[in-house]
Amino acid sequence: MKLIWLVGFWIGFTLFCNPTEAQENRRQMVILDPGHGGVDSGAIGINGIKEKDIVLEVAKEAIRLNKELFGNTLDIYLTRYNDTLISLSDRTKLVKILQPDVFISIHCNQAERKAAQGIEVYVQQTNSNTNFDLQFKSEILSKALLSEFDKALGFKIRGMKYANFQVLREAQFTCPGVLLEVGFLSNMEEAEHSRRKESVRGYAMVIIQALYQLIDAEYY
Ligand SMILES: [Zn+2]
Repeated sequence: MKLIWLVGFWIGFTLFCNPTEAQENRRQMVILDPGHGGVDSGAIGINGIKEKDIVLEVAKEAIRLNKELFGNTLDIYLTRYNDTLISLSDRTKLVKILQPDVFISIHCNQAERKAAQGIEVYVQQTNSNTNFDLQFKSEILSKALLSEFDKALGFKIRGMKYANFQVLREAQFTCPGVLLEVGFLSNMEEAEHSRRKESVRGYAMVIIQALYQLIDAEYY
């Protein structure tokens, strides 16, 4: 009995002192953050669809695709799994606790000008505390997402933008992070497009592909 206890202690001690082996086998961890939820619908589409529903479907579809097509290679967590409102600080609290390799907040865009279309990806604007390694990786992720939306789905690309959004600001020291705006719900063409299940699947596929691009390039 004593020997078993000693062996157990030894294994635990060895793992504790030699964490690299455990890390090598670790899957890349991704937190996807479907924006809004519950009483906060986010943007309401010109056709009545709600941002909170679209972004949740995209995030859940990413989990499904990762499992069904990619052998669960990525370790994906969501900040919400159903139609509930989570505060912005609780979303980033999860990021700080889980310490993922990547954080992507998913939103839909809207504008006064009904003709506005396309994809935008936001990166935290630099400040006096910016970690430039993480900032660089966020920019690479942003470019990978934009290029996939362009090549795979033919979206108009509005480009990478810098902003001071709370979720990006609070996650900026933990891991690379971006806020993705998947099309304009104020635009009839894109709102109708986002209503379709195949489109949601396409958005999710683009997110997964962009993540793989970066993992293949060993950015994370
Ligand atoms: Zn939003």
